[in-house]
Amino acid sequence: MKAVAYVPLMLGLMFESNVCAQQSKPVRQANIAIITKAINMEAESLLALYKQNHAFPELAFQEEQTSARLAKELRKVGFTVTEKVGVTGVVGVLKNGEGPTILVRADMDALPIIEDTKLPYASKIRTRDKEGLDVGVMHACGHDMNVACLVGTARVLAAMKGRWQGTLVFIGQPAEEIGAGARAMLEDGLLQKFPRPDFALALHCDGRYPTGHVNYREGQMQANVDSVDIIVKGKGGHGAAPHATIDPIVLAARIILDLQTIVSRECNPLEPAVVTVGSIHGGTKHNIIPDEVKMQLTVRTMNDKSRAEVLDSIARIAKAAAMGARAPEPIVRTRGESFTPALVNEKELTQKMVALFKDVVGASRVHERPMSMGGEDFSQFTRAGLRTFYWHLGTAAPAAFAESKKGGKALANTHSPYYAPVPEPTLRTGVLTMSMAVLELMGKK
Ligand code: ZN
Repeated sequence: MKAVAYVPLMLGLMFESNVCAQQSKPVRQANIAIITKAINMEAESLLALYKQNHAFPELAFQEEQTSARLAKELRKVGFTVTEKVGVTGVVGVLKNGEGPTILVRADMDALPIIEDTKLPYASKIRTRDKEGLDVGVMHACGHDMNVACLVGTARVLAAMKGRWQGTLVFIGQPAEEIGAGARAMLEDGLLQKFPRPDFALALHCDGRYPTGHVNYREGQMQANVDSVDIIVKGKGGHGAAPHATIDPIVLAARIILDLQTIVSRECNPLEPAVVTVGSIHGGTKHNIIPDEVKMQLTVRTMNDKSRAEVLDSIARIAKAAAMGARAPEPIVRTRGESFTPALVNEKELTQKMVALFKDVVGASRVHERPMSMGGEDFSQFTRAGLRTFYWHLGTAAPAAFAESKKGGKALANTHSPYYAPVPEPTLRTGVLTMSMAVLELMGKK
């Protein structure tokens, strides 16, 4: 991969501090023009950075090269950078006088997927995951795009210092995919060791919308995510003598079916929840009844109350089924460390940002989307007390989007081995919306 060429910006000199009102209509239009011009200058090198990160993806908490590249980019435009915050996280701070402190976050990690996009810059990387398994690695969630947009925004805003005042805190966050990176950075003192942000912003790719468009949701956008392990205990023996055993496989099957009644019979139908058994392992051979079966569940809920009830129901149902089968009590473990709280966009801030985006990309390109049961650990920053706003960048080619709308070929979305954002217009929309969002919240010069 050839080195990323960087064209230093001279815009800081071109646009001196002769501005009065921040983001009034004329100022907004002027800022859009300045940013667009800057993006034109930076697009080639940002695309090269994006493709380099795409070709060399790294799994959660292994983002060594990605974070080193990001740190270098932020330093180049004047940020004071600290590395290894929350294992592989990066924090860049740029102070520019009195004013609000705004955090902008990009997640950096990739997924254990073998890429099948046939792109010239497709990943061929394989690595070992934390269980020691040989896996393919792919930026199938577009975090490479999120990082490129962060770098683009850093370059643009560093070159426009005459038009805003305050402090920027730009972070490269590790391990979003395992719901652990935001927590790791917070536990490592993100809010104590660095200027405390008044606002936190993040964008993320969305393969179901066309490139150039953005989508958001006011209020709750994504769900609580929990991981639950169940170890079903039995008493092993010969497959031909079931009467002398307690069969944990039959018991596990019963538990799986009983779990289906939580959402259908116990939860309020107006409040969505999901209980999925994603993994079940037990036994070694046709004619051996094993001692135990292991299951892994993902649980999605809307709020703290429903979360507590659903987790409680899982444990109750597993234990009751075991009792009915005269089996030992199963182990039901909620992995507290992997809990991701629901993502909620603050109403007032969302409305302000949506009005801005309508001006920036055009009202017909800004969509309110339905709530999703997916998870996103940007929510940890909200829980930590920051005012947050999170939006999606469409990444689909317009023709592919139109075809899918007509009932043709479905779009490949994030987490698919075929997921391939259209790079340039997506990058442009990301840098433009993020830069404008920061300016909207910043102090004026
Ligand atoms: Zn993601």
